[in-house]
Amino acid sequence: MQRSDIGKGRSQTDKGSEAVIDEALRQLAGEVGMSDLDTESKTAWISQGFERLVDRVRKAPANVHFDVLIIGSGYGGAVAASSFAGRMHEGRPISVGVLERGREYLPGSFPTGLGELPRHIRSDNNKEGLIDIRIGAEVVTVVANGVGGGSLINAGVMETPLPSIFHRGWPAALKDLSVWKSYFDRARDLLGSTIMGTPNTIANHVDGVPQKFRSVRSIAPDGNFRPASITVAMSDTVSSGNVRLNKCVRCGDCATGCNGGAKNSLDVNLLARAHEYGAEIFSGATVLTIARDGEAGWIVNSVYTDAKLRKRDGGTVPIRARKVVLGRRYSRLQRNPDAVTRIGPATARQEPRNTVLDQW
Ligand SMILES: Cc1cc2nc3c(=O)[nH]c(=O)nc-3n(C[C@H](O)[C@H](O)[C@H](O)COP(=O)(O)OP(=O)(O)OC[C@H]3O[C@@H](n4cnc5c(N)ncnc54)[C@H](O)[C@@H]3O)c2cc1C
Repeated sequence: MQRSDIGKGRSQTDKGSEAVIDEALRQLAGEVGMSDLDTESKTAWISQGFERLVDRVRKAPANVHFDVLIIGSGYGGAVAASSFAGRMHEGRPISVGVLERGREYLPGSFPTGLGELPRHIRSDNNKEGLIDIRIGAEVVTVVANGVGGGSLINAGVMETPLPSIFHRGWPAALKDLSVWKSYFDRARDLLGSTIMGTPNTIANHVDGVPQKFRSVRSIAPDGNFRPASITVAMSDTVSSGNVRLNKCVRCGDCATGCNGGAKNSLDVNLLARAHEYGAEIFSGATVLTIARDGEAGWIVNSVYTDAKLRKRDGGTVPIRARKVVLGRRYSRLQRNPDAVTRIGPATARQEPRNTVLDQW
């Protein structure tokens, strides 16, 4: 499958209503003079703009909009989306939604040099920026903001942890790695760090290893060097999401986004699979809070990520779901202890009354 094929299976009705929404947005953009409102872009292939969900929710606010609603589309969110999508419950398919605050990126839309980097940095004036840098007193973190989360800008090194890692500070159930090894093996194959069990390393590149590799190998102490498994295509191939990948051109730009279509990032593997199995992925949607919705489930209060759209739209959009999966860290929760009771590591199983995820 090529990226351009995705979405071809959608119904005419969907396409018809999308055209109406697109036209309405174009008119609105013209009326309010927002010439930079991007309604023409055809760069999304597995996600839809949040406006489509906003429209649906506002037309039927009392409905349960999703059986499972996943917040964030990084590794946590993508694993959940691909695991839930296509499953049946009580004789009908589970409806799965993913809310991602960032945009969708295609090869070619990432920064190509230092000069282009600043406009891809997330800030108050550029909430959809790809690279989110958080400067703390002692620690600075960098996370991604886009469909695919960290996989868009990470180096793609993916190794199974040493068993000793789980001996301290992790739940006791994880202590015996041999119990979990088959899951690591499956995850690595799905994510492209192994291919049918064989590590995917630069040593497998069809054009040979780069000079840098040879130089590092020559200075490494004996027996202390091996190529790391990475989630980058070493030859023209197909991802587990059935998307074609180009062989890596060894430019080293993995950490600002792969413009060569060689990175086996989540948008081409697990999220593409989830999309194929019916999960709906919405980009440009920032979740602010989660609240209990009686016994029935949860209300996920969301807004447009883009500051102009948010200002124009006005209010939060209360999306109802039976189950919510947090596919992102909840650092802000720790700063709002009153707002939160307890929350599980990946799933909002407990009962936060009003779990704050982000600020307006
Ligand atoms: C430059 C760089 C290089 C790295 N290299 C490696 C490497 O080689 N190997 C390795 O193992 N790890 C690497 N990492 C780390 C790895 O990418 C992360 O550990 C991983 O992405 C974390 O996955 P996650 O699902 O927890 O979160 P993320 O991948 O960060 O996904 C969270 C997602 O949630 C979205 N989100 C957040 N808040 C909201 C909200 N309120 N509403 C809606 N959506 C929201 C975010 O936009 C994001 O897409 C690297 C990271 C960076 C930044």
